[in-house]
Amino acid sequence: MTRAAVHGSARGQFNERPLLVFWEMTKACQLACFHCRANAQLVGAPDELTTIEGRGLIDSLASIGSPRPILILTGGDCLMRDDIVELASYAHSVHVPVAIAPSVTPRLADSTLQSLRDVGVKSASLSLDGATSSTHDAVRGIDGHFESTIEAITRLREHGFTTQINTTVMPSNVRELADVAKLLHDLQVNVWEVFFLITTGRGSEVTATSARENEEVCNFLVDASRYGFTVRTVEAPFFRRVARERADNIDAPSAVVAGSTYAFLRGRLLELLGPSSAPVRAPSAATRDGKGIIFVGANGDIYPSGFLPITLGNVRESSLIDVYRDNDLLRSIRSAQFVGACGCCDHSDMCGGSRSRAFATYGNPLASDPGCVRVSTPLSTSL
Ligand code: SF4
Ligand code: SF4
Repeated sequence: MTRAAVHGSARGQFNERPLLVFWEMTKACQLACFHCRANAQLVGAPDELTTIEGRGLIDSLASIGSPRPILILTGGDCLMRDDIVELASYAHSVHVPVAIAPSVTPRLADSTLQSLRDVGVKSASLSLDGATSSTHDAVRGIDGHFESTIEAITRLREHGFTTQINTTVMPSNVRELADVAKLLHDLQVNVWEVFFLITTGRGSEVTATSARENEEVCNFLVDASRYGFTVRTVEAPFFRRVARERADNIDAPSAVVAGSTYAFLRGRLLELLGPSSAPVRAPSAATRDGKGIIFVGANGDIYPSGFLPITLGNVRESSLIDVYRDNDLLRSIRSAQFVGACGCCDHSDMCGGSRSRAFATYGNPLASDPGCVRVSTPLSTSL
């Protein structure tokens, strides 16, 4: 899932148009990762959007004029759709920029990658969930998948894609993050997008990292962004708050960070890559679920994000852009009308917390994000 490296934010900036539109082209995927948001299955569902409906979705993005949102073709595995090149080509012809987020399987063939490059796709993201085969393969459920992924990253670069690597942080891999950073540095990856787990889909079975660990990881990620790649986060907008806190004194991690995870990761990063005097590369576009981001499921259902299972409409019946602009929940999310700590936080517009985690925890998408250390209020369904 590729995010544009847009800097700066302004209140109301994303009221009229999303920055990123994720289209889950299919639920089909040959893998069966244990944290899969999509509950991916071997074959696609019969009610998935057709090629013609996909063109209609692309037309709706083209119609809003420049700057058009970036369309991220995801899944499941977007390469399980036989029409992916046709649809990417169509998007290019109507000036909608496209990025792909495929799975690493035999379908990630050089011929397909070249076809996608030929029709104007510039960016591609792959998932890497550990720095060792044992960690990554355990998540993906296939022996040898780590080596296949490393090889696939190299092939993406050879085909000229801007490369993004997605890593989901879990207790089982958190202490490998510095080693992942070293791998990405050595592979000359452009962007590292770090997902903070939401307990939805098959991820419901996985324990998420604590708010304290999240703070430590975010501080580590600020450090890691000084080694040649941009760092972004998914479902951790408080990373922007941490990056801002560190901006005045990069050598001083935020006051709450004194724990062993940060100390370990920081030490390991220095051991592997040495000190860096490069600037922090952590873009500050103030997006969150439903603000700059919108998600279209395989059957056309519209969601604030792929991790927030509240249906807002369906592209078969409604204009995606009309829903994005006019839906009451999305308006509340964009205007930071939150309950509890996120509602009174100085960073509510720039950060605003993960709406997905608030919903997964409290059943209220406007509640505070329990993944942030600033949300110290005891768990309560009234939050
Ligand atoms: S590769 Fe992606 S879509 Fe496929 S099972 Fe894994 S997480 Fe799900
Ligand atoms: S309290 Fe909420 S808005 Fe403030 S930094 Fe934490 S998650 Fe962001």
